[in-house]
Amino acid sequence: MNNQLNSTEYDIPPDMEGQVAITTLDKVYNWSRRNSIWPMMFGLACCGIEMICAATSRFDFSRFGMEVMRPSPRQSDLMIVSGTVTKKMIPQIVRLYNQMPEPKYVLAMGACASGGGPFKEGYSVVDGVDKFIPVDVYVPGCPPTPQALLHGLITLQKKIDHQSIKNVRWYSKEQLEPVPVPVLGPDLMDPREYELIKEISAEKLADEQQEPEAEQA
Ligand code: SF4
Repeated sequence: MNNQLNSTEYDIPPDMEGQVAITTLDKVYNWSRRNSIWPMMFGLACCGIEMICAATSRFDFSRFGMEVMRPSPRQSDLMIVSGTVTKKMIPQIVRLYNQMPEPKYVLAMGACASGGGPFKEGYSVVDGVDKFIPVDVYVPGCPPTPQALLHGLITLQKKIDHQSIKNVRWYSKEQLEPVPVPVLGPDLMDPREYELIKEISAEKLADEQQEPEAEQA
């Protein structure tokens, strides 16, 4: 344990090795977080089965301190989006993401969650969960194997290792705004694009009003 925690800039005298560690606050902070990531269960389609396999005895991601799969966003650090994200589902995903406390991470598991996958052109499918929430790690594949998911989780641990308490967003002075929850009507509406949608609708309306006038003339 102390080998992981020890800062490389300091030499520990040989007779104290294994008993003493000289380290930084960042290292201790990141070491504790990287080894206790609690994922939120989020199996949306076939990829969900592979995610479940990663928790079984053969792959056993509890080795990484991740065995506590939460059914609630309120005690979770990591949202694993595994499976096809439909337009009907994305408002719930964004709402749950907003309900997760900081620090929080998102892992997009599989082609569907990363970019729409085989259903990319489908009328009911979102072409990538990253259109709405920030994704930290993408795990490619259709479906990715449990080993690939483990690799994604190790990649996330490496990302955490490089974060510093000085500039992480959850300690910044600015207020962290929640992601606007998309609205599902005849199609999905992203509230961040509301002004653009209003502009295009106004142009369309003006065109439609001009057409009958031109026909009459
Ligand atoms: S990426 Fe492939 S395996 Fe995963 S949910 Fe989509 S279709 Fe299913």
